[in-house]
Amino acid sequence: MGFETVKCKVGARSVEEDVERVRAIREAVGPDPAIRLDANGGWSREQAERALDSLAAFGTEYVEQPLPAEDIAGHRELREYHGVPIALDESLAGKAIGEIEAISDAADVFVLKPMALGGVDRTIELGRRLEDVVVTTTIDTVIARTAAVHAAAALDVGRACGVATADLLAEDLAPDPSAVDNGAISVPQGPGLGVEPSWGVKRA
Ligand SMILES: [Mg+2]
Repeated sequence: MGFETVKCKVGARSVEEDVERVRAIREAVGPDPAIRLDANGGWSREQAERALDSLAAFGTEYVEQPLPAEDIAGHRELREYHGVPIALDESLAGKAIGEIEAISDAADVFVLKPMALGGVDRTIELGRRLEDVVVTTTIDTVIARTAAVHAAAALDVGRACGVATADLLAEDLAPDPSAVDNGAISVPQGPGLGVEPSWGVKRA
């Protein structure tokens, strides 16, 4: 499908099983695509250290939220002592922009979800203050998903963003104005978000 980055959830099985899955993914996709992992806060410090040491061999782009959301110091230390970059996601929830800026040394990459951060404006404001971000959806329907596409484009994010999530829904609210084409999404150029309502609303 043209994607250059794939993402796999880890942390729900043993570290050894996760490492085997990542090894299998690397074998399947070949040497070039980036592999990023997301533990959703599921590891202890000991598990995270063991996992990061093993995962470095597979050219892992970053591991998202290896430790529970509140363990900011733990993420900071993992970042310092292991060869795999660290991203924060759940640790940003419920924090003000200034509070997130204050922990910007705890991770290499920050995962910005407009629906979790309080909207597109706050996402763009935060993204401008942080050095390295990705924008992702929260598996949203077309409206919030397209808003995330706009936020990612406005921030000119240098990494792959997690906005190709339409296929995870059984049905949607309106046609997708930013469908994936050969691994890329074009930003809709219509008014507003560029979503054409399919429920009979007429534009003035
Ligand atoms: Mg995540």
